[in-house]
Amino acid sequence: MKTKGDIVIVGAGLAGSLLSLLLQKRGMNVTVYEKRSDPRSAKIGEGRSINLALSDRGIKSLKLAGIFHEIEPLLIPMKGRLIHQENTPLKEQLYGTDGQSIHSISRSTLNHKLIEAAEQAGVCFEFDAKCESVHVDQTALHVTTKGQAKTVTADAIIGADGAFSIVRSSLMRFDRFNYQQEYISHGYKELSMPSKGGEFAMSTDHLHIWPRGSFMLIALPNPDKTFTCTLFFPYEGVESFESLTDEASINTFFHKYFPDALDLIPNLAEQFLANPTSSLVTIRCSPWYKDKCLLIGDAAHALVPFYGQGMNAAFEDCCILIETAEQCNYNWDKIIPTYSNLRKPDADAIAELALANFIEMRDHVGDADFLTRKLTDARLHAAFGLEWIPMYSMVTFSEIPYHLALRIGKLQEEILTTAQQAGRLDDLAYCMELKQKHTAARKLTLNH
Ligand code: FAD
Repeated sequence: MKTKGDIVIVGAGLAGSLLSLLLQKRGMNVTVYEKRSDPRSAKIGEGRSINLALSDRGIKSLKLAGIFHEIEPLLIPMKGRLIHQENTPLKEQLYGTDGQSIHSISRSTLNHKLIEAAEQAGVCFEFDAKCESVHVDQTALHVTTKGQAKTVTADAIIGADGAFSIVRSSLMRFDRFNYQQEYISHGYKELSMPSKGGEFAMSTDHLHIWPRGSFMLIALPNPDKTFTCTLFFPYEGVESFESLTDEASINTFFHKYFPDALDLIPNLAEQFLANPTSSLVTIRCSPWYKDKCLLIGDAAHALVPFYGQGMNAAFEDCCILIETAEQCNYNWDKIIPTYSNLRKPDADAIAELALANFIEMRDHVGDADFLTRKLTDARLHAAFGLEWIPMYSMVTFSEIPYHLALRIGKLQEEILTTAQQAGRLDDLAYCMELKQKHTAARKLTLNH
């Protein structure tokens, strides 16, 4: 049977495996080259988060691929944040309304399911096959597989090879390719909280946060009744990874800032010393393509993880690429620039939002003024529905393009600050009036 073309994807991570499934189902002949061994038979690489928060944009893409019914039973819904403040009772902050939740999912299980489904649909996976470079002019890929070098050609090459993309390195050799990478001063370390008496040690329907100003601990539940806790902490300074070097300093630090977590993780210091410390980077580049070679997911736009959107954005990339392919009648000369120009402003917006959310999570979630504004934000949504949607909901529970969510969200935050300064935060009609006035002035269209 004649296919709609031969597509090569580099990377069988989350974006690459989902995209391969979507393209193969639409009549393309897809081959995926992955440098790791088959993850279904190997251990996941060190330093990657073992669970992730999946939300609406990711779910929509999994539904488009016809695989969500297999993923849904594996999800653990988290309806809000549970804030562990020092010397204060636990406080719940709901993420949305009417039972809206984000969902904890194991990275490796999700990746296995996607590879499995893609393979069943006819995608050819080559594992232990490292892309060395791309010869863009010839749409050719140089791969080393089991010690042997080979060159493969295709109608299009898609780089889904993550934040440190080799495909992107090949694009960088061309004139006028822009590239920026920015590490934050914090790294992260994962720690496992075991089950207690065969049950979860804490509430499972929340994402737990211990906000401590300049750093924080978070925890997400896993199906085996453990939690994965992640400490986001400065690399250097008086209280930093640099200063926690032995059992005594680690235990003293956790006893001071996270005593309840310390009680629930018996071998905490041992894990802390054994587990890697990993860095956090934002990567921006443009254009995302050259000729018939395109970047998607983290290869195009790596984000810091504080909005829980990196995977969701990568999955939405796949969805938008497919919609564009259909509109462009599977002509890759048109699909690639059309998709990139459409999507780039959204990637820039979610990168900005992800950086800003770090400050919100580690600092503001415990702040009284912030909480009062959040309450009004929620009340405005309850009173005016789609005319006022909180920023978090636009990002997490809607398909509103990220760039629009950012602009509308910033306006709403300005209005809440103005209303608070005027002592009129309770006056919902006043807030709405301000919004209408500024929406018109900034020509912000709300027809999403
Ligand atoms: P990757 O998952 O990195 O996959 C890239 C693949 O390419 C890998 O399999 C790699 O082995 C392969 N590869 C690399 N180089 C080559 C080569 N030369 N040849 C062949 N193969 C190659 N996102 C969320 O939505 N929600 C969350 O809660 C969340 N939490 C996170 C927490 C942390 C601590 C971190 C670091 C990230 C988190 N993310 C989250 C982001 C998410 O992990 C990424 O956005 C997502 O993995 C991107 O998928 P990808 O397929 O683009 O890249």
